[in-house]
Amino acid sequence: GKIGYLTFDDGPGEYTSKLLDILYKYNVKVTFFTVGSGHPDLLKAEADAGHSIGIHSATHDYATIYSSEDAYFADLRKQQETIENATGIHTTLVRFPGGSSNTVSKSYCSGIMTKLTQDLTDMGFQYFDWNVDSGDAGTSKTSEDVYNSVISGLIEGQDNIILMHDFGGAQKTADALQSIIDYCKEKGYTFKAITQSTTPVHHTISN
Ligand code: ZN
Repeated sequence: GKIGYLTFDDGPGEYTSKLLDILYKYNVKVTFFTVGSGHPDLLKAEADAGHSIGIHSATHDYATIYSSEDAYFADLRKQQETIENATGIHTTLVRFPGGSSNTVSKSYCSGIMTKLTQDLTDMGFQYFDWNVDSGDAGTSKTSEDVYNSVISGLIEGQDNIILMHDFGGAQKTADALQSIIDYCKEKGYTFKAITQSTTPVHHTISN
């Protein structure tokens, strides 16, 4: 089939309400991999709208979270609790900062991603990487870039897990979202939120 899973990392933030408005208008459900939150009201709004909420990190500070397994899980549990306090949802959906393939963790703790990915799974969590990158955290400088990166990355017949961001610089992402949804609907794609039973995309572990 033609399936797209839109995922938004690093929020909630100043563009979350705009994203929620667009998603409501199109009746599209997505997944938010959240960071911290001084905005429990936005976490609740995401959940109330039927979107999936996952754990990205409490701090998103690589030097802290990838210093040891204990440090990683302390941060993970903290974010899990923040989400539960705001929404009542005990989520087990996870996205690693930098993805499971990150190499930045190597400078803090050799081999940690190999251990964390195994332990997370053993503990009943599910982690999700991505196979379509909007580039909105890097190479995509404009909303047209974000749109083109997503459109050119989609592959029919695979579950397309699309990486986007919901943070301070995400104006271009919010601006591109409507066009991306329009394109995908016209091409016959269905959007789904990630759940515990979604088959994950996993990158190759590099540390
Ligand atoms: Zn992130």
